[in-house]
This record gives sequence, C-alpha cells and structure tokens, in this order.
Amino acid sequence: MRWQGRRKSDNVEDRRGIGGRGLAVGGGLGGLVIVVLYFLLGGNPSEITESLQVDGPLATTGAGQPLSEKDKEMGDFVSVVLADIEDVWKAQFQQMGQGYREPKLVLFTGQVDSACGYAGASSGPFYCPGDSKVYIDLSFFEDMQRKLGAPGDFALAYVIAHEVGHHVQNLLGINDQVMAKRGRLSERDFNQLMVRMELQADFLAGVWAHYARQSTDFLESGDIEEGINAAGAVGDDRIMKQTQGYIVPDAFTHGTSEQRVRWFKKGLETGDIRQGDTFGAANL
Ligand SMILES: [Zn+2]
Repeated sequence: MRWQGRRKSDNVEDRRGIGGRGLAVGGGLGGLVIVVLYFLLGGNPSEITESLQVDGPLATTGAGQPLSEKDKEMGDFVSVVLADIEDVWKAQFQQMGQGYREPKLVLFTGQVDSACGYAGASSGPFYCPGDSKVYIDLSFFEDMQRKLGAPGDFALAYVIAHEVGHHVQNLLGINDQVMAKRGRLSERDFNQLMVRMELQADFLAGVWAHYARQSTDFLESGDIEEGINAAGAVGDDRIMKQTQGYIVPDAFTHGTSEQRVRWFKKGLETGDIRQGDTFGAANL
C-alpha cells in the first residue's frame, strides 16, 4: 500500500508500551479468566474471543518499553488505514441518510482493559460494542505472517476493516439483534448465527476495499490478493486444522476459508452494502 503522506485518523488510542498488568485480573491467566467470567455474566464471548484464534498466547513485545521506529511506523500505518475506512463509511452512511459515529481504535501491548472485559493478545483483534472500540495488539500482525501465512500490509488492513465492519453492524443494530437470540438458541445454532455475523463483517471489509481500490495511488498491485489470502488464512477450517489437526464444523464461529474469501470478494466486487445480507442467504 502507498500509505505514506495520507491523512491519519485522530481516533487511534495508542496504549502500547504502557503494559496492562495490575489493572484488573493481571498475569498470564487474564485472557482466559475474562472469557470465563464473561460467559458467566452473560456477555458475548465473541466480543472477547473475536477472532482469528491463534495457537497459544502471543509473545508480548516490550510492555513498558519505548516504541521503536518500526512500532511508530506501524502505528502511523494503522492511523492512515483507519482514516480511509472512516471516509468510506461516512459516505456510505450519508447515502443511507444516517450519521456515522467513528469508532476508536486502541493499540495495545500484551493485555488491555475494555468495556467487554480484560483481554490478552491471545484473544486476537476484537471489537467491543460496549465502548465502540476496536482493539489490536500488533504482534498479531507478525503472527498472521509467520503462523497463518498471511503476509503483507493489506492483510492487516483487512483485519482492521473487518473489525470496523463489526462497528458498522453495531451502529445498524445488527449486533443487538443477534445477541438477543443468545440463550434462546442451542450452542450449535447460535454458532451458525455468529458465522453469519462474521461473514458479514468480511463482506463489509470487502466493501471498504472496493472504495480503497478506487482511491488514487493508495493500493499497489498485489494488495487485494494479500487481503483475499488473509481472509482465507483465518477460516475456521484452516485454523482448526492447523491448531488441533481436525475440523469440527458445529464449532465454527467465523466461517470456512472459502466462505470468508467469497464474502470478502462479494463486498469488494459490488461495493454495495445491500448485497451483504448473510443472514438471509440460503447458501452461505
Ligand atoms: Zn469478527
């Protein structure tokens, strides 16, 4: 991506280097404890475990350390991508006759406190509807490259756009509708509903990519392919196979690689949010 010199968003909260220990649960168990607590409290575990489940906790890079030049550059990159996503959704909401409330994006190292609970980097990037913030530990980006085989800056841009897709769903009331069904459906049926919500977030990431591609000098050749590759790399089937060696379709919460790629591409090709009704689609 040719991102240098483009507008940066004011909505990035950089909490890297601060470290999260001592805030709430603390320690390496933090992420796990929170997920369990959250289940018990009736929260939406997907808000916490959003994700791109990675095999084991990620390395926590340098909590309490000053940011390196590379860290700063990554932060700038994220700000530029977020700014572009803001522009696209602002225009889309305007077309629908609605105002767009921009989400914040929190960069953190290791662990973070959110309105959805305390989370560790092992939970992967997530969106919290309670505070309308996207949370990303950029060490996940390294994991995408090394463990998941999804290199390239556009792979990270896709992840950011997917998370902001959840924010769009939140603004449109879709998140509330899905969560209202929680507890009234079997776990298996609820998981299927989650898959539809996740595939819609992929579709919305694709809608952003559609407009990003039209913007002058932003994308380079190979970027879109990096995004498509990343969408495939985080499919439930592929991640399950990689982490546990076998696939349990009833436990899917994000969709298969093939589905994630297909819905991302549908958004990319149409740029039309009316085409993204994953809940009404007979075939996902
Ligand atoms: Zn998601």
